[in-house]
Parts: sequence; C-alpha cells; structure tokens
Amino acid sequence: MKVILLGTGSPIPNPERAGPATLVRTSTDNILFDCGRGVVMRLAKAGVIPPMLSGVVLTHLHSDHVCDLNDVITTHWIMNPVPSALRIIGPRGTKEFVDATLIALALDVGYRLAHHADLTQGPLVDVLEVDAGSSFTLGQHDILSGATDHRPVAPTLAYRLSEGDQSVVIAGDGVPCASLDALVRGASAYVQTVVRPELVQQIPSPRLQDILDYHSSVEQAADTAQRAGVKALMLTHMVPPPAPGSDDEWRALASSFKGTVVIGDDLTSLDLGTMTVTP
Ligand SMILES: [Zn+2]
Ligand SMILES: [Zn+2]
Repeated sequence: MKVILLGTGSPIPNPERAGPATLVRTSTDNILFDCGRGVVMRLAKAGVIPPMLSGVVLTHLHSDHVCDLNDVITTHWIMNPVPSALRIIGPRGTKEFVDATLIALALDVGYRLAHHADLTQGPLVDVLEVDAGSSFTLGQHDILSGATDHRPVAPTLAYRLSEGDQSVVIAGDGVPCASLDALVRGASAYVQTVVRPELVQQIPSPRLQDILDYHSSVEQAADTAQRAGVKALMLTHMVPPPAPGSDDEWRALASSFKGTVVIGDDLTSLDLGTMTVTP
C-alpha cells in the first residue's frame, strides 16, 4: 500500500503546494481523501485519472479540503466511457455539499449533454454520510471512521484503511483527542495536518491566529504518533509551509516521536511495505 501526499498546502495560496488531498493506492484500489485546490492535476501527476478512483472520502467540509470536488465529479463523468457513479463518503453535511455542487455544475452539464450525442445523462454520484465509529466498504476495503476534534467545525472525521498488516490513518484537521488516539493506535502510518504556532504568532493577522486553537502543532502530532506506536508520521497541510532547508527544524519539533517523520511536499509518497519515502 502506498500513501501519496497529493497536496500539502493550506488555504494560503502557494504556487508549489496544491490544497490538501491524499491518495492511498492499495493492490486493488485508488482511494482519494479530500479534494483541495488542484487535486485533479496532482492525481494526473501520480498517474491516476478520476475514473480510476474507487471513491472519494472527505474528512470535513472546510473549503480547502473540498474546493475541487467539482473538478473530480466533472472529470470522472466526462472521462468515463460508460455511465458510472462516483462514490463520495464524508461526514454529515456531505450530501448537502454535493447537491449544491451539482447545482453549480448544472449549466455545464446541460452544455455537454447538448453537444455530445453519446453522453445521455449527467454526472452520477453515490453519496454516503457516515458517523464516527462506523465503517463502510470502498472497493475491496473496509474503512473505519473516527471522530476528530476540529471544533467549532463538526462533525469531522479521520479514517483508517488497512490492507493485510499495513494500515494508514488519514486524520484531516484537528487537535489531539481520545478518539483519534484510538483510531491511530498501532497503524503503520498516520497523516496529520499541522501548524507551527510559534511562527504563525509572528504574523500580524488576527484571522490567522484563530487557526491555532483547532489544528495540531507539529509537537502534538508527534505526541499522538508516539502514543499510538505508529511507524511513520506524515506531516501535511503545513502552516506556514516549510522554508527551503528547514526540514531539520521541523524534524526537531517532532522529536518526541521515535519513528519515521515524513515532511510532505506535493507527491511525496510512502510505501508501507518497505517504509520507503519517495520525494
Ligand atoms: Zn479544517
Ligand atoms: Zn484545512
């Protein structure tokens, strides 16, 4: 199983970092977690086009995590030679978001249906809203969901996907909490969005300071990883983005974790079989 950080950015525009999105490739399935800015471009770079996805799983409905779902839906639709429903799984609110997205796409759908005789219907989606603690099947995998603490945003979910003795938890945004600890325990890899409060505090923007109380710091992510006994911690959605040459500084902040720390750039991947990181 391979975990590919497709997009390691945040809401702050960055020409080198697409918005948050992570692809998990198993021996049978391609499963996309979140759909941040530029996700279809990064999927293409990873060799995956939307019709190859077994489904899309959303951690929460903050815009930076879902803003390009519309592109995944449209590209899945127009690149599929036969009608096929895109499976979309997420917390409560996902149906409302997908319905609104389809309304936003309605004019485009009309143009394409009028122009392409072989297209006989608009995009098909199969949406499932899940609660924390429940599991669902996507492709050949049972995926378990767990609550995260990203309040006041709620509900928000993390997910655990396994294949054989390998497993990964995609945690999305949030601060450490007992349910996240329980979900991550013993996983091979744990993907966590992080911020660096000591750097963010130097930026004179009250709105930016607000992000500190509902995201894990690097230290908190490392502590969660260490408590859970995972093999690898993958940092993503880093605020601020790492300056060139600052990897050692980031690693030092994560020093409470004794496993492998992966400081993500877009398309950095971790093979859970060999525990090899490919930049
Ligand atoms: Zn968020
Ligand atoms: Zn976010």
